[in-house]
Amino acid sequence: MSNQPRVMTVYGTRPEAIKVAPVIKALEVNPNLDSVTVVTGQHREMLDQVNEIFGIAPDHDLDVFAHGQTLNTLLAKVFERIDPVLEREAPDALVVQGDTSTVAAASVAAFYRQIPVVHLEAGLRSGDIHSPFPEEANRKITSQVTSLHLAPTSRSKDNLVREAIDEQAIVVTGNTVIDALFHTLEQKVPVSDPRLAELVETGSPILLVTTHRRENWGGAMEGVGRALRRLAERYPDVTTVLPAHRNPVVREAVLPHLEGLANVVVTEPLAYGEFTRVMGAAKVVLTDSGGVQEEAPSLGKPVLVMRDNTERPEAVDAGTVRLIGTDEERIVHDVTELFDEETAYAAMANAVNPYGDGRAAERSVAAIEQLLGTGQRIADFAG
Ligand code: UDP
Repeated sequence: MSNQPRVMTVYGTRPEAIKVAPVIKALEVNPNLDSVTVVTGQHREMLDQVNEIFGIAPDHDLDVFAHGQTLNTLLAKVFERIDPVLEREAPDALVVQGDTSTVAAASVAAFYRQIPVVHLEAGLRSGDIHSPFPEEANRKITSQVTSLHLAPTSRSKDNLVREAIDEQAIVVTGNTVIDALFHTLEQKVPVSDPRLAELVETGSPILLVTTHRRENWGGAMEGVGRALRRLAERYPDVTTVLPAHRNPVVREAVLPHLEGLANVVVTEPLAYGEFTRVMGAAKVVLTDSGGVQEEAPSLGKPVLVMRDNTERPEAVDAGTVRLIGTDEERIVHDVTELFDEETAYAAMANAVNPYGDGRAAERSVAAIEQLLGTGQRIADFAG
């Protein structure tokens, strides 16, 4: 074991893996710090898939995944299994990203062991503790026990300042998802599904859809399924691509509505490299995802968000993202408008980058170095 400060990164789901990957890679090559990685396995296959793409081999795997377990069981498992790892590795700082249950549990566990917590993507707020659920609460819990808040934008910094968090403990870094996206697009990975490869190759119009939010489970997602069917029937030349989330609740609500439609392609979750290529080729993106809301604007894609609120207002203000909720009629109406009206489409199809400039990992690691006394932070991201 070296005498250098040791930074432990803990993550558990696909979106966390994508967003911590650039930071882990930067920590691994940093000569002043040692990097230890821990996965909780809150998601299983989707997490392993991302680790593989970025070439990350976790040092510890808490393996907490189980089908249909409650949030409380999940949290209890993370608390119980991370504690001996914290004791053995004795990190000087613990890095978490975002707002999952993994993040809430790992940050509190580190705090109880008096290990400083570094929170990536700090300060996002929807303003409604019940939506997104349980993420809004997870973010707020984590902010309370965090020593270094790495806010993606100045608006997320302002949210923290409003909650009386010490301004000196906040650094605006940009979102690491933009680092991950730029890095991945550069690699131009081949698209392995032949149906998608052909769509990307020919430039044939794509409606890309992702849905998974817990608060949309049930009736709302059924409505999404019905809206997709109506759109597919109305636009035979447009292919709807739906990489279906692994969660069976999501699949059972949406997929039955899409049976027998030749212009709907339902796939397993796509590897990140392939997903970014399909997103780059899409005409319109319809999603309830947080990460996709951040990525698609930088590709100039109009994004319709199936939620009533967002903790990511920057691209809404820039005009490339619109909140439309989950009402079936509204989904059909807004997608139709983008397909049929050129001016409406052109007004939303602007490439904007309010979430980052590709240097968020570099700023994050510099700020961690300052926290641990081995270096200095660099200028904030101006977004
Ligand atoms: N994503 C992916 N494959 C897919 C669908 C999404 O790699 O089939 C990526 C996407 O580019 C984004 C992240 O997964 O970076 C978003 O994950 P998700 O929507 O599950 O979570 P959220 O961002 O809502 O927390």
